[in-house]
Amino acid sequence: MSVFTTKYSQMTTEQRENHFLCVTHPWLNPEPYNDDFDFSYTIMDLMPDGWRKAFGDAFIKDMELALTTLPLQAYKEFHIVDIQALIRGRLEIRPSTLNFQAVNKVIEKYEAEAAKWCVFCGKPATKETAGGTLFLCDDCFNSKNN
Ligand SMILES: [Zn+2]
Repeated sequence: MSVFTTKYSQMTTEQRENHFLCVTHPWLNPEPYNDDFDFSYTIMDLMPDGWRKAFGDAFIKDMELALTTLPLQAYKEFHIVDIQALIRGRLEIRPSTLNFQAVNKVIEKYEAEAAKWCVFCGKPATKETAGGTLFLCDDCFNSKNN
């Protein structure tokens, strides 16, 4: 039996939300083999706010759907290792294995989606910063350049 360092009754609202995410989508648990994990974050926290707002929920939903096609043991072992924002509006989502085509297709879809949305606020991206480092909406572009 596992002993959690943080009891559910003592968790903050954010910890409870993270706990819910990790229970309903175990592959979002950043520390899948750590029984003492306090749910202070999930792997989704690595996704920049704007992208998470624009398509985070849709990504989770599509991934869960693709992952339900896996055998149970493979589902249990699967997790997202890393999420990174790269230059030129690029998102990289690194899964624990590349063995599952349906899962890879979902990841590719959302990696392509990232360039369409403002990385800061999640509105449609309309502008590029100098050198095309970031793709931003009008508002965030203007506030960065004033
Ligand atoms: Zn914006």
